[in-house]
Amino acid sequence: MKLLDIKTLKKQYFSEFQAAKWIVDHKAELVTTRTSFELARTRTDILYRPNKKEKFKRTILERRLATLLAKHHKKFAMWNKEAHTITIDNTTYKVADRVQSGEELAFHSRLGHPISLTQTTLCPQFFLDTETIKNHYLSFLFPKWFIPYTKQRHFKYAMIDAGFKFQSRAYNDAPHKPAHQRMRTDIARHAGKIAKAYFSLNRMLDPVRERHGTGHPLGLFYLAFDIDSEDHPLCHISPNGLCKDCMESSTEKLEKFKTIIETLPGFRIENVLFSGTKGWHVHCSYNDSRELPEKEFIMLNHYILTQDPKVIDNFIIAGKGKPHYDRHRVLRVPGSIDATTSYLISEDLERLPVQDYIERF
Ligand SMILES: [Zn+2]
Repeated sequence: MKLLDIKTLKKQYFSEFQAAKWIVDHKAELVTTRTSFELARTRTDILYRPNKKEKFKRTILERRLATLLAKHHKKFAMWNKEAHTITIDNTTYKVADRVQSGEELAFHSRLGHPISLTQTTLCPQFFLDTETIKNHYLSFLFPKWFIPYTKQRHFKYAMIDAGFKFQSRAYNDAPHKPAHQRMRTDIARHAGKIAKAYFSLNRMLDPVRERHGTGHPLGLFYLAFDIDSEDHPLCHISPNGLCKDCMESSTEKLEKFKTIIETLPGFRIENVLFSGTKGWHVHCSYNDSRELPEKEFIMLNHYILTQDPKVIDNFIIAGKGKPHYDRHRVLRVPGSIDATTSYLISEDLERLPVQDYIERF
């Protein structure tokens, strides 16, 4: 969290405890906040809520911790994403961003047994295994059926520690240098830090330059759909790392999607991949091709949305002129890992045997 001095624009980073304390200490001076990004405001300072990057990393760590605790207790772990607590068998653990003082320890202890995500000697500390994920990428292979589509596609990687890394070369496939080899060399340095890997649905004239949004989309879309679960604040994480409710919700949607698409002549569902956390990616073909020109791709999306507006998200952009599909949209790379759960983006719910641990637990 960040405190901004309005006059000098100086920023100060706050832990959860520091932010809560700041609010209490400035109670008399608080004025109304002006945007939803603000947690509190005085005439001189603004305290911001955690930003997207902070939340991204925290979600990964908390979910992996919830899975580890569920495994340890051999029971479902109830993970409260807002309160940052994990409850199993009437025991509640508080996930703490930082525990550097007795005061900080007491603050987190109000909600449960603190487990710190950063270094401390005051309470147990959670350690994330990134080595297993690194080894997966160093021996990475694309599924055979995906190889022809790596050509002219943009690849990017969301890092656990925030931000993106981008491909530095095209992943075209050639007998002397297969696509997977190009990708492995490309990401070797940061393979362990990859949280999620993406490829562009659109073909790009210059996929490397797409990192600046200037890849020159060619309007030929890879035919795949993202079926996600409805979001809910409490997840019931099983020892295998999945939330029962999320899986039920997305699988129900998947069935609806199948009935819609199966009535369309020429269409076929080729692969249904687990999306890594809670949903499904349906890879399709039309007349044996896994790509469609933009116009047909829009018509297809439009058709599905008119049958059921909730089954997929709408990425058709109706600006001035003719409507177009989000030309920079990305989907998860088949065979890659979702660091949130350590599941593969694959057809058979396969999970990497990550060795996370809690020190002094
Ligand atoms: Zn859930």
